[in-house]
Amino acid sequence: MAFAAVDVIRTKRDGGALTDEQIDWVVDAYTRGEVADEQMSALAMAILLRGMTPGEIARWTQAMIASGERLDLSSVPRPTVDKHSTGGVGDKITLPLTPLVASLGAAVPQLSGRGLGHTGGTLDKLESIPGWRAALSNDEFIAQLRDVGAVICQAGEGLAPADRKLYALRDVTGTVEAIPLIASSIMSKKIAEGTSALVLDVKVGSGAFMKDEKDARRLAETMVELGKAHGVTTVALLTDMNTPLGRAVGNGLEVAESLEVLAGGGPDDVVELTVALAREMLTAVGIDADPAAALRDGRAMDSWRAMIRAQGGDPEAPLAQPHAHEVVRASQAGFVSHVDAMGIGLAAWRLGAGRARKEDPVSAAAGVLLRVQPGDRVEAGDVLCDLYADDDRRISAGRADAERAFTLADAPSARTALVMDRVA
Ligand code: URA
Repeated sequence: MAFAAVDVIRTKRDGGALTDEQIDWVVDAYTRGEVADEQMSALAMAILLRGMTPGEIARWTQAMIASGERLDLSSVPRPTVDKHSTGGVGDKITLPLTPLVASLGAAVPQLSGRGLGHTGGTLDKLESIPGWRAALSNDEFIAQLRDVGAVICQAGEGLAPADRKLYALRDVTGTVEAIPLIASSIMSKKIAEGTSALVLDVKVGSGAFMKDEKDARRLAETMVELGKAHGVTTVALLTDMNTPLGRAVGNGLEVAESLEVLAGGGPDDVVELTVALAREMLTAVGIDADPAAALRDGRAMDSWRAMIRAQGGDPEAPLAQPHAHEVVRASQAGFVSHVDAMGIGLAAWRLGAGRARKEDPVSAAAGVLLRVQPGDRVEAGDVLCDLYADDDRRISAGRADAERAFTLADAPSARTALVMDRVA
């Protein structure tokens, strides 16, 4: 059945619910190029302003899945479980988590993306490892999942093509933040990927898409419902993203910090979240194992090396070194009361770790290394963070955002919980 795009837009603009037939048609016609970008932009804005009913979100997700292929992971002999984060600053958790969970008997099919704006992308981080290859064919992806149990790669062209097109449009039309569109975007890709279970890390705070807990909870509940409706065991954790995760923000810097975690060390918050998400993933597929032990005894590191080698990377090769380095110092004594995730994310981006346009290159060596965390006491002149870049010009570009990100106070403030809640 064909509709006039303008009628579909008017229905949503006026606060009505779209019918199943309208949704199927508009998603398909947009993917084929029959509905124009300007029409889909108007519809996306109407959805952002008016919202969607649970029934509309379910149908929209279904239509996005149907726009492409659905992978069949039934030849993988282990239970499959994936994790998705809604994105944050210093969020390198996928790197240690994927091999960790694989080392305990699950298969982790992790289709990841590149960074845009102030949040980093998992593929950009892994590409700082010499030789590592992000693009795998479907056959290579499934074979690696069978042989190694862990794979992190870019999603193939055939998976939810409607989402690829719509996401790029939302990015430039101020419509990324619509909860129905975020939920259907994430879940259409995860369901099409074929995983049997999924753990969502829904970020809340200044460095996240969702700035307040109420919106994050609504997003988590919407995605958990969508997963369950498609037979995917789905659980979400709401986690704090007001301060960056760990100390490293930047591609190669985050790989180095992930290696510390895989070697049994690393910052407490990165370890805490890695272990919490690993426990959820293992429970979701009925595996009773202790992830903290697998970090301590080297099993997770062995699995990391196998995963990196399988994609052409050299896990022993040195990472790129920056050419320019400066520090940010405290202008006064006090207690660090806040390290703003958004400010540090923007600083790392300006230093060269992120891109402004999809086609821009990213630097492997650029980024921010935090030397202090909320609660720490500093004296005037103490180093708050290191800034790394490929040249001095970039250092000047990133410095102001980094300086503004630190708030000092006379007294220490209470620590907030990293894992705020669980939605199942
Ligand atoms: N990540 C996605 O894949 N889609 C969104 O819409 C937002 C974050």
